[in-house]
Amino acid sequence: MTNGPARLKAARCPDGHYHHPPHPRCPDCGAKPTERIDLSDREAVIVTWTTVTATPPGVRKPNHLAIVEFDLGDRGDADGTDDEGDGDPGNGDDADGANGGGAEDDSENGTVRAIGGLTTDDAAIGDRVRPVYVERLREPEAGIREPDSQEWDGYRFEPI
Ligand SMILES: [Zn+2]
Repeated sequence: MTNGPARLKAARCPDGHYHHPPHPRCPDCGAKPTERIDLSDREAVIVTWTTVTATPPGVRKPNHLAIVEFDLGDRGDADGTDDEGDGDPGNGDDADGANGGGAEDDSENGTVRAIGGLTTDDAAIGDRVRPVYVERLREPEAGIREPDSQEWDGYRFEPI
């Protein structure tokens, strides 16, 4: 199926869990996500990365792949996120924009990870990256699938 440009999105459930890609149910608690967060205009940090030299047909070679982490807590209330509500049992999640230290331990409550290609091999763990839209992540003609049955666009991560 093709339905326009790929979107890089996370979902958030009423209990404040973020996940990517969005699922019909929160993987942490089973609730229905109530919010979508567009990740494509946000920055992330490289958690780890690798270079694949034996790539499938149609995939660039070498292919630099990274796992990156978006910290959604930083900007969570910048543009009117909805009510934190529900008596979150967590340890206080900065609903008023306070961003003091001690956020390390709430990885399930404000960060989300994604995997994708890097635009360069000049990268290091901890580098900040931003998503860049790529029209063709793979060569449609080189694959074994019907080109029309697949989506070919998406995002890579570019060090800032
Ligand atoms: Zn949840």
